[in-house]
Amino acid sequence: MSLTNNGAARVAIVGAGIGGSALAALMQGLGYTVTVYEQAERFMRVGAGIHLSPNLMRVMRRLDLHRQVLVSGQEPAGFLNRDAYDGDMLYALELGEAAHRQFGAPFVALRRGDLHAALMSAVAPNTVQWGKRLAGLDWRGETIELSFEDGTRAHADIVIGADGLRSRVRSALCGFEQPTFSGQVAFRGSYQRALLGGLRVDDLTKWWGDETFVLSYWLDHARQDFYFAAMMPQSEWPTEASSMPGDLDEMRARFADFHPDVRHMLARAPQGSVTKWALFERPARFEFGNSRVLLIGDACHPMRPFMSQGAAMALEDVATLIRALMGAGDFGSAFATFAATRAERLGEVHRVSSANTFMRGPTQPEWVFGYDALTAHPSARLPALHTPRAMAMAA
Ligand SMILES: Cc1cc2nc3c(=O)[nH]c(=O)nc-3n(C[C@H](O)[C@H](O)[C@H](O)COP(=O)(O)OP(=O)(O)OC[C@H]3O[C@@H](n4cnc5c(N)ncnc54)[C@H](O)[C@@H]3O)c2cc1C
Repeated sequence: MSLTNNGAARVAIVGAGIGGSALAALMQGLGYTVTVYEQAERFMRVGAGIHLSPNLMRVMRRLDLHRQVLVSGQEPAGFLNRDAYDGDMLYALELGEAAHRQFGAPFVALRRGDLHAALMSAVAPNTVQWGKRLAGLDWRGETIELSFEDGTRAHADIVIGADGLRSRVRSALCGFEQPTFSGQVAFRGSYQRALLGGLRVDDLTKWWGDETFVLSYWLDHARQDFYFAAMMPQSEWPTEASSMPGDLDEMRARFADFHPDVRHMLARAPQGSVTKWALFERPARFEFGNSRVLLIGDACHPMRPFMSQGAAMALEDVATLIRALMGAGDFGSAFATFAATRAERLGEVHRVSSANTFMRGPTQPEWVFGYDALTAHPSARLPALHTPRAMAMAA
């Protein structure tokens, strides 16, 4: 389908998560008519923490949302990697101002709900149809019919699957295949600073155990809301649900050989504040879609969260797709350029995430944090996606 008149194409985005909301906002900026179909009845401000690495923050800056997340979140002074048992420093990466200098953008930690709220604020009103859980797709000549579990239907020329780990768009394209349980689970919890007692906690630390680790950081600008994620192997996951209430005794017993500071952080977590999550993945054989339907984010490439790069990859996808749309004559060639541009980068990040080695020792992190999805891969002849300020200056 031709890209000569952006407004004429009916674009359906399935999923108003991190990738879907960012894509909707940027496509609307290019004049596209976009409808987002989201299964949730309303936006929920989920409290778990997330890192916004500089490669992700570049896309936030293009969306003009970087100040919003800097106000609610915090810029850690550094990313400390310590031995889990004796606390020895394995690798310390200076962040704060140094991240701006070294990677060209800040490194931010905040509540996931605050990131999502910022992204949703960039989407035009009435773009999202809530309570629309996609059941399937049917090809009716030139039109794609979307059917929803509430019995309703909608029609589009182009469908972007941004519907996450258990993507129905992916199932419609490739057949149903469950993501696999990675054999890893994570206890995730947050609580107020006062509960830490007198313990001094650095901004961002990963405590590396043998097959386990604990990541801890602050979720807010004032450093009052403390967050941790404690990962460990587990042979089976007994339920369909992705999470269950965390058993504090089990968590504390499993990390009982960790450094006293970590034991203290886990010991202070109040009853009911911890959830246990199963980590799922798919192999790095990426299914991007075809000339009318495209997968982005976790729908395309879910990975273990050991590099904290899943949302970053979703936003890099979005920036690359927008550039491909700007540079192509039709959706089919834009989608092909997108897939060709993303495959290598995603493969490398997926591989290193699975290995869980990133920053365990002396590391050159530029290839991850310094990546600029707004300009990368000039060989694919993608136009640069400049920042709003640069675009205003060029006009
Ligand atoms: C423990 C953990 C920690 C993480 N930490 C980080 C981190 O620090 N930094 C980072 O960059 N990444 C992190 N990630 C990864 C990150 O959360 C995901 O990769 C990211 O959310 C993917 O974005 P997405 O838009 O593809 O999917 P999502 O944000 O999951 O959005 C998918 C959307 O689709 C909707 N949906 C699903 N099915 C349907 C349907 N059938 N019909 C309609 N709507 C549907 C969902 O309700 C949801 O709104 C972490 C992940 C985990 C598990």
